[in-house]
Amino acid sequence: MKSSSLTRRDLLGSMLKASAVVAISSPVAAGQSPHASSTPVEDLVAANRILAQQGILDGYGHVSVRDDATANRYLLSRSLAPALVTATDVQYYDLDSNPLDPAAQPSFIERFIHGEIYRARPDVRAVVHSHAPSLIPFGVTGIPLKPLYHMTAFVGEAVPVFEIRKVRGNDPKMLMVVHNPALGLALAKSLGAKPAVLMRGHGAVIVGSSLPHVVGRSVYLALNATLQAQAMALSGNVNYLDPQEAREDVPDNCQRAWELWKRPVQEAGCRKQEAGRS
Ligand SMILES: [Zn+2]
Repeated sequence: MKSSSLTRRDLLGSMLKASAVVAISSPVAAGQSPHASSTPVEDLVAANRILAQQGILDGYGHVSVRDDATANRYLLSRSLAPALVTATDVQYYDLDSNPLDPAAQPSFIERFIHGEIYRARPDVRAVVHSHAPSLIPFGVTGIPLKPLYHMTAFVGEAVPVFEIRKVRGNDPKMLMVVHNPALGLALAKSLGAKPAVLMRGHGAVIVGSSLPHVVGRSVYLALNATLQAQAMALSGNVNYLDPQEAREDVPDNCQRAWELWKRPVQEAGCRKQEAGRS
């Protein structure tokens, strides 16, 4: 049987690889953060950098946050690789996903994901759209992505899957991307009241009550997918969290992990600013 031919060395190697995704942040230095408090724009920049460092976003994918002052607006960077985002790249959008500034820089094609989810889900304050590789198999195999360990108890029973073939009509272009409000609305419906939805052959959307929350959920959901694939390779009888266990979120909504991950990206930003001044 192919799955039982997995050697101890193979297993150890793949587990180390999975844990390295979370451990990639450098150790936190002693002392105060260079920025004791941050603006929403600074936090959005940090979220972009963290998600890139954690391997959740690469050159593509995006993260947004609802505007604190006006609930029917959100902040999202211009179309740019997340690791390169700075404060000047952040733009404001209405819920139709039109940039508020007529002179705005080019926007992400898939920004409608964010606008339609903020419209459908008043409780959601931050949204991530990722193509995290570990999630992709669970969108294409019919194997449900289920909570395997306590960090993903927020998943509940399983992550739903959005099938774009059912809703894209006869448009022959951009077959796999959410490039208009109707597709964004269909995706929001697939998400429903859940914390995440997989997109078949594409990626996923994860939502949260804040940037720390959605960043943490995005990291741990991708890690759950890696661990679930490993567990399924070991056994056909994986012991998932039961419905009672799979009801609780991470107790501090991922705040502690956010502080861990944010410190090095802020310090790197400060070093860059200082180098620019010298
Ligand atoms: Zn995408």
